[in-house]
Amino acid sequence: MAKIFCIANQKGGVGKTTTTVNLSAGLAQVGQRVLMIDLDPQGNATMGSGVDKRKLELSVYDVLLESSSIAEARVRSEKCGYDVLGANRELAGAEIELVGLERREKRLKQALAAVEKDYDFVLIDCPPSLSMLTLNGLCAAHGVVVPMQCEYFALEGVTDLVNTIKQVHANLNKDLQIIGLLRVMFDPRITLQQQVSEQLKGHFGDKVFNTLIPRNVRLAEAPSYGLPGVIFDPSSKGAQAFVAFAQEMVERIKTM
Ligand code: ADP
Ligand code: MG
Repeated sequence: MAKIFCIANQKGGVGKTTTTVNLSAGLAQVGQRVLMIDLDPQGNATMGSGVDKRKLELSVYDVLLESSSIAEARVRSEKCGYDVLGANRELAGAEIELVGLERREKRLKQALAAVEKDYDFVLIDCPPSLSMLTLNGLCAAHGVVVPMQCEYFALEGVTDLVNTIKQVHANLNKDLQIIGLLRVMFDPRITLQQQVSEQLKGHFGDKVFNTLIPRNVRLAEAPSYGLPGVIFDPSSKGAQAFVAFAQEMVERIKTM
């Protein structure tokens, strides 16, 4: 059965989408069957996987409103080597349309049950908020991967997220756990980043992934070509780090 992970952090611009598409591509490269689900109405993970969000016939929106199955709505990204359940602006409306419907936070989980067997990993790119959309992701997942920058208030931000995950664990999804914290956009020349990185390890121990994702311009350029950095420029430092992270992830789930 697939391992289902949310890539989440309530802050915007911390590298969630970059992590989702590059981990998806990295896992595909090491032979894993991957479904990438875009739960952000911005559709950046969809576009960044080479799928045009404006041309989607069906999307995760239709799945949440139960007018489509995942098997019908997913598309294959041949260039990236994984399947995509895409999102676009339409998804912003789902938030309101789901209010008042029953099982509203369990819709994605139920839809996934039918396709789980097709995959080793399902990665869910969450929006930067604790909305009904994120809640659907957290209810469907076995775990959360938290990308974070090693900045001054980083620890505070993570504490909020950890509390949210604890609440979801207690009330909605007993399976949910934090898989790990991923240090991204890391610059070892900046002393503060090294200090925060050490703090994180002191506080969260082996929940901090060994792999460090460096700040690397090729990772930032890749989305404009509709590709994850891992495929856009495989020899770049950023791409190599994400492939190493994919390998670390494969090892880590063996102990889950
Ligand atoms: P989020 O999904 O959390 O909002 P993104 O993944 O979209 O964050 O990243 C925010 C911005 O930072 C994007 O422009 C992205 O290209 C850039 N970025 C992300 N990770 C890196 C990195 N390791 N090195 C350089 N730029 C990065
Ligand atoms: Mg994003």
